Amino acid sequence: MQRKAFIPFAVLFLTLLPAARLAAQSAAAATLVKAGKLLDPRTGNVMSPAALLIEDGKIKEVGSPSQLQAHIPASAKTIDLGGATLLPGLIDAHTHLLLDVVVPPTAESARRYNGDFAPDLMLAVVESPSKRVLLGAQMAREDLDSGFTTVRNLGHAGIDGDTALRDAIDAGRVSGPRILASGRKITSLGNYLQSLNPALAEAILRQEFFEVANLEEGRRAVDENLFYNVDVIKVALDDDGVGISTPIMSAMVEEAHRAHKKVAAHAAGKGAIQIAIDAGVDSIEHGNEVTDEQLKTMRDKGIFLDITPTFWSGFFSAITEPSIVRLPVSRADQVASDERRHARVANFIQRILKSGVKFAAGSDMCWFYPGKTRGQASATMFSHLHEAGMPALDIIRAVTVNAAQMLGWQDRVGAVEPGKLADLIAVSGDPIADIGELEHVRFVMKDGHLVKNDFATP
Ligand SMILES: [Zn+2]
Repeated sequence: MQRKAFIPFAVLFLTLLPAARLAAQSAAAATLVKAGKLLDPRTGNVMSPAALLIEDGKIKEVGSPSQLQAHIPASAKTIDLGGATLLPGLIDAHTHLLLDVVVPPTAESARRYNGDFAPDLMLAVVESPSKRVLLGAQMAREDLDSGFTTVRNLGHAGIDGDTALRDAIDAGRVSGPRILASGRKITSLGNYLQSLNPALAEAILRQEFFEVANLEEGRRAVDENLFYNVDVIKVALDDDGVGISTPIMSAMVEEAHRAHKKVAAHAAGKGAIQIAIDAGVDSIEHGNEVTDEQLKTMRDKGIFLDITPTFWSGFFSAITEPSIVRLPVSRADQVASDERRHARVANFIQRILKSGVKFAAGSDMCWFYPGKTRGQASATMFSHLHEAGMPALDIIRAVTVNAAQMLGWQDRVGAVEPGKLADLIAVSGDPIADIGELEHVRFVMKDGHLVKNDFATP
């Protein structure tokens, strides 16, 4: 038979395959996953009971257990999750895996404050690139363990830290989510490094950013990132809308789109948001001061708003109080500012929902959170969004179907459907009734490979 004749070649070929390829081959065996419920974030429908047939790392069939059990291959392995609820793997659309900022005590911050560039961030980015990429490997593993099977890493990764981490994960060298990497963040002159010691500023800058002042530099920054094989371009626009102008931004968007890469723009202020909209970016990160008019234009142009609820719900107090000394006055200021923020973000969420703009969510997590892993810290965003008034189903959509579309990966991830990659999570309870369930993901599968299963009986 033809198959037999090929065996020597197949054996030879297999010996040449790297470890990751071999691992992928072992996933080729069919797996049946059964659970009490399967939530479809797109429709909000729940299938109960539910089963999935997984083959070659992809979802082959979705249906009731009795339907699927009738015709699955005899060799198929079964994973029974009991009464658990299955969902698509979560997507964190705004991460900083190579950054773990420790907030210093108030006095230390005050002494080292250097204008726009906060001392805690500066201390984090001057670490050696090797140290940071190993830190990134830890953060990636912790993210995956909390159910984030895909992340988009938007800057602060050294020159090529996030593309290297992505490749290492894809090759099976380290465990982590599938990463869309952006390489170096493109900024305007002086945006981040105001009044930093000039003798050090250049070296820090080159490791972390591209500073651009004109069209040529803008295009070159995009091209240089493309040389490192980035998946997406990240540009930080100044919050006051000065710095990178609309023509410079447009040139960068054009350059990125020519290479079929999307552009994510950090834009918090109204002016910055307008530049991002006029230049035709694909997503606006943060968008704090977006107006109703701008939301409408974004909706019409199909520009995504990527909501980053990091500092909502008293987050700063939560990460600082257990570990650092803060002046009483600074603590009181923090409480007052948390209250003001709550009213602001509740209004922000209502306007977003009403506008019909497409939205996703990202943790923007880059902070050392005492007692929590990076994944657990990032998962606090779900309750932050809920406390600001976003319904649970919208939150789940923001980190599954919507995020997949924003990334341009809607054919691969974000839904539990035949043909999609087998990225799955499961929780014990009902995440629609209690969004906090997503902070306790108990089963994770990526590409059909089991990452963890707390439901398994030993
Ligand atoms: Zn960020």
